[in-house]
Amino acid sequence: MEWEVVIGLEIHAQLATKSKIFSSASTAYGAQPNTQACAVDLGLPGVLPVLNEEAVKMAIKFGLAIDAELTQRSVFARKNYFYPDSPKGYQISQFELPIVGKGHLSIELEDGTEKVIGVTRAHLEEDAGKSMHEDFHGQTGIDLNRAGTPLIEIVSEPDMRSAKEAVAYMKKIHSLVRYLEICDGNMQEGSFRCDANVSVRPVGQEEYGTRAELKNINSFRNVERAINIEVERQIELIEDGGQVVQETRLYDADKNETRSMRSKEEANDYRYFPDPDLLPVVLDLAMIEEIRATLPELPNAKRDRFIKDMGLSLYDASVLTSSRELADYFEQLLAKTDNKDPKLCANWIITTLLGALNKAGLEIDESPISAEQLGGVLARISDNTISGKIAKQIFDALWKGEGKDADSIIEEKGLKQVTDSGAIEAIVDEVLANNPGQVEQFKAGKEQLIGFFVGQVMKASKGKANPAQVNEILKAKLSN
Ligand code: ADP
Ligand code: MG
Repeated sequence: MEWEVVIGLEIHAQLATKSKIFSSASTAYGAQPNTQACAVDLGLPGVLPVLNEEAVKMAIKFGLAIDAELTQRSVFARKNYFYPDSPKGYQISQFELPIVGKGHLSIELEDGTEKVIGVTRAHLEEDAGKSMHEDFHGQTGIDLNRAGTPLIEIVSEPDMRSAKEAVAYMKKIHSLVRYLEICDGNMQEGSFRCDANVSVRPVGQEEYGTRAELKNINSFRNVERAINIEVERQIELIEDGGQVVQETRLYDADKNETRSMRSKEEANDYRYFPDPDLLPVVLDLAMIEEIRATLPELPNAKRDRFIKDMGLSLYDASVLTSSRELADYFEQLLAKTDNKDPKLCANWIITTLLGALNKAGLEIDESPISAEQLGGVLARISDNTISGKIAKQIFDALWKGEGKDADSIIEEKGLKQVTDSGAIEAIVDEVLANNPGQVEQFKAGKEQLIGFFVGQVMKASKGKANPAQVNEILKAKLSN
C-alpha cells in the first residue's frame, strides 16, 4: 500500500512588544523568575486586562502580509483549563472570531516549483508561564514571567504533504515574521514554536486519516525528524491492523521518538466563552491602511524582483531572501560592485560565504567579512586583477582577519594576476616542452587535453596567470 502524508502546522510566534498583551509588565527574556509578572499576569482578583494596541497592530501586519481577510470585529475568549503555570485557570485567546482570517503564502519545493499553503486563521492570545522541573527535587518551580506575553497563533490548512514541505513552510513563516519585525524568531528562547498535526491516508483516498498532534518541537531539524518518525509509526501501526487515535504526542529529541501525552481535548472541553472583561476589537480601516503603508518589501516580492531584475534563478533568489539580513548583505555587495554581476555576487554569498558561516556556526550578521570587504574582492575579479582561485585565498585571509581589505592583501602577498602576455607565453612554452606526449595526443585530436595544459600553466604561475589569456595563448601555440 502507498501512503500519503498530510500535515498541518500550528505556529506560535511571540510578538515583539515591550509589554505584555493585557498588562504593562515587561516581556524581556531572561529576568529573575517572577520579577516580571504583575497582578494582572498573576490573575489576582479585582484587576482588569487592558489590550496592548501594539500587539493588535502586529497581528494586522501579519494578516496583510499573507493576504488574509482581517476580521472587522474580533473577540477575545476564555479557554478554560487548569494548569499550574496559568494561575487564572483560563487562557485569554480568540476562538470563533480570530483577528486574522483566511490567507495564504507560497513556499518553494526542492524541484524548483512553488506551492501555495493555506492559512486557516491567526489569532491573538496570551502565553502561559513556565514549569521548571530541573532544579527542584520532587517539586516543580513556577516562573510566571512569560505569563501574558503576546502570541500570534498561526494555523495552517492541512496542505503539506511531506516533512520537507512542513519545514519549508515553517521557515517561510519564520522569515516573514522577522521581515515584519513582529517577532524575534528566537527558537532557543521559545519565541517561535510549532505543533505539527500529522496523519496518513492511502494514496487516492479523499478523506483525511486520524491525526496526532506533536508538541515540543523547538528547531527546524526536529520538526523534520519528529514528523518522519511519527509517519513511520502511524504506517506501521495501520499495517499491523491497528488504528491511529487522535491524541497529543510529545516529541523526545534525545530518543528521537514520539510518545503519547494525553488524548486530544475537544473544543467543548475548554468551555470557551467571550471574555467579559474585554471589549471586542474593532478595526479601523484608516489604521489598516496606515499599517499597510509601513510594510517592508516582503520575502516573496523581493525574491521575484531578484529573479526579474537581476536574472537570478528561483533557487538563488530564494536562498538570498530567506532572511532580511541576508538579502541586505546581497544588495550591499551588489552596490559595492556597481551592480555589475549579480550572479557572481549570488554565487560568492551562497557557496563561499554561507558555506564558511555554516561551518563556523555563525549567522550572516556575525560574518567576519563585511559586504564592503567581499565587494573589494569581487571588484578585483571583475577587473582581472586576480583569478577566482586567488580570490578564495583572499577570502580566507579576510576571514582570519589577516588584512583589512582585498587590495592590501593582494599588495602584501604579491597576488596580482599576471596579464603580461610575454610572461604567460614563457610559462606556456615551458609546459609544452615538458609534456611532449600530451602535445602529440592533442594534435592527434584529443582536444580535451586543453584542460590539462591550462591546469599545468596555472600551477606553474601559482594561480596568478590570467585564465582567459592562458587559454588563448595555449590554443594559438597548439594549433601550429
Ligand atoms: P484543533 O481545534 O483540535 O486544534 P483544528 O481543526 O484547529 O484542530 O486543526 C489544527 C491543525 O490540524 C490545523 O493546522 C489543521 O490543518 C491540522 N489538521 C486537521 N486535520 C488534520 C489531519 N487529518 N491531518 C493532518 N493535519 C490536520
Ligand atoms: Mg488548534
